[in-house]
Amino acid sequence: MKQPSAITLCEVGLRDGLQNEAVLLPTEEKLSLLRGLIDAGFKVIEVGSFMHPKAVPQMADTDQLFRQIGEVPGVELRALIPNLRGVQRAIDCGCKKVKLNVSASTQHNLKNLNMTPQQSVAGFAPCVEAATAAGVEISGSISMPFASIWEGVTPVETVEGIIEAYLAVGIDEISLSDASGMATPKQVENLCSHVLQKYPTARWWLHFHNTRGMAMANMIAAMDAGMTQFDTSFGGLGGCPFVPGAAGNISTEDVVHLCDESGIETGIDITKVMELSRKLQELLGHGMESYVLRAGRSSDLIAAHQE
Ligand code: ZN
Repeated sequence: MKQPSAITLCEVGLRDGLQNEAVLLPTEEKLSLLRGLIDAGFKVIEVGSFMHPKAVPQMADTDQLFRQIGEVPGVELRALIPNLRGVQRAIDCGCKKVKLNVSASTQHNLKNLNMTPQQSVAGFAPCVEAATAAGVEISGSISMPFASIWEGVTPVETVEGIIEAYLAVGIDEISLSDASGMATPKQVENLCSHVLQKYPTARWWLHFHNTRGMAMANMIAAMDAGMTQFDTSFGGLGGCPFVPGAAGNISTEDVVHLCDESGIETGIDITKVMELSRKLQELLGHGMESYVLRAGRSSDLIAAHQE
């Protein structure tokens, strides 16, 4: 495997993970986990989302979390937003980084919003204007750029159209999110190489779910193509505990472990992340989708034999 010397991880468990949980964690517990993640070395953390509290009650206290944590020097705390109202909530609570999202499925967009994904992104222009005027950085994500549950394999032209729509409204930080967990390593390598070459000014994030056990292979394929920014979730949190087969994001400790054992710098303290995942396991009352959390670190086992 070709490998970068360093990668950046964004911890998304507090958002992508907790939003799927039946248990509503008290704000104080979330705040303590957030402080723990900052202490573990994360420089980018997705704290929550500004969705309507009725739609996603687990994220209803995101504003409060931002108010309580305040600004943390050197750490980017971001939130997912659905629309202009989300930008306003970010401004009001001191959140300095927001992320919009669109699904790459044209059929899905047409059915739900009567718009193509490109038209949805063009409609984000007022969000960019409001955020920029208030000094809030704005980024965008594309769900299912590899394959979707609605249309199968996503045509590359569709992804290009969405990327170009984002660039046209002034968003050049773009996340490719395999929310359905259907991407394959070869496809990931191809699309990543392609967009890196075709849109050299854009800054990319990759977001993989482990629904079919391919998240780590996909992440390595993306690294091979030259990508260096990835979303991960501590304990592999995410998905829905009541849907058989649903899985969360690629687990943070599994990724940090791979990097530690392979000489790729992440700046993250794996021991601290594992402690937080164990605490989360207790809070949520169920097990976690993390191999390293179950089996321990390879280097600890190797060291034990050398003593
Ligand atoms: Zn996700």
